[in-house]
Amino acid sequence: MNKQARIFVAGHRGMVGSALVRRLVADGYGNVVTRTRAELDLTDQAAVNRFFESEQIDVVLLAAARVGGIFANASQPGEFIYENLVIETNVIHAAYRARVERLVFFGSSCIYPKQCPQPIREEYLLTSPLEPTNDAYAIAKIAGLKLCEAYNREYGTQYVALMPTNLYGPNDNYDLNSSHVLPALLRKAHEARMSGAATLTVWGSGTPCREFLHVDDLAAATLFVLEHNLTDGLFNVGVGEDLSIRELAECICKVVGFEGELVFDASKPDGTPRKLLDVSRLTQIGWRATIGLEAGIAATYQDFVKAHGSTAAAMPA
Ligand code: GDP
Repeated sequence: MNKQARIFVAGHRGMVGSALVRRLVADGYGNVVTRTRAELDLTDQAAVNRFFESEQIDVVLLAAARVGGIFANASQPGEFIYENLVIETNVIHAAYRARVERLVFFGSSCIYPKQCPQPIREEYLLTSPLEPTNDAYAIAKIAGLKLCEAYNREYGTQYVALMPTNLYGPNDNYDLNSSHVLPALLRKAHEARMSGAATLTVWGSGTPCREFLHVDDLAAATLFVLEHNLTDGLFNVGVGEDLSIRELAECICKVVGFEGELVFDASKPDGTPRKLLDVSRLTQIGWRATIGLEAGIAATYQDFVKAHGSTAAAMPA
């Protein structure tokens, strides 16, 4: 890919978008275009059209989305389906109208059925019902990837969809009501250690299994896809192995240095029992994740302490 290409990273302040910008800059891409929400509201169709008509964008990385953990998804399904659908349709359609040839759309492993054979292959999409705690978000993300497929088929665009497994890393959301499990447990373990608490509460039974990918690995995979001219289709992005929520909690406690007991809160939902991605489509072409879970959590914990350490106890719960 041309190092002078004008690459629009939509959602550059989020965890995925900021990782993409870091990676693009590090790799010498000189024309990374970003807009804050105040400068460009991606839910405003006319504003998005004007932006694409005037900016001569070559490549779009569509990382703008409303995202959240199990509680946020289950309690605000309307916001999750509406905002994601409108951002996707606005950006993908405006990009096509402005003759942008290449676009990467980011989804999530929750697009796959709840009772999926494991590991999950790309072709299992839409083969049986979704997990109800995040079906609104999943439907929006499925619509986004179908939009890419349909435009490729009808208009000859080269829009690719990447489906990352559960992500973590710098600039994650640490609000306990809307975050995912890894940042939530990192914050809880930090606060428990700081306050000398005897216990740490983990939602659900601790038995569901999840796979975790450092967001810098997702950024690396994105550049790999662009630089290898993978121009069509759906690619899972993950590490290829998972662990139980209990094992994750134990790993986080080890990194943080919290030595108390884990308590499991059965009043909170478990969500889908397992979602391990089959990543062979990308590994066969030569890409694999390189950041191990414990090392990735340790690096993320350092970022967390730098950004929130002294104020963590005072952050909104
Ligand atoms: P999911 O992968 O879409 O289900 O989203 P999450 O990352 O929010 O949750 C993954 C699993 O971790 C679920 O089984 C949760 O019940 C469990 N979990 C355990 N403790 C927590 C917590 O403090 N916050 C969140 N968000 N999930 C937790």
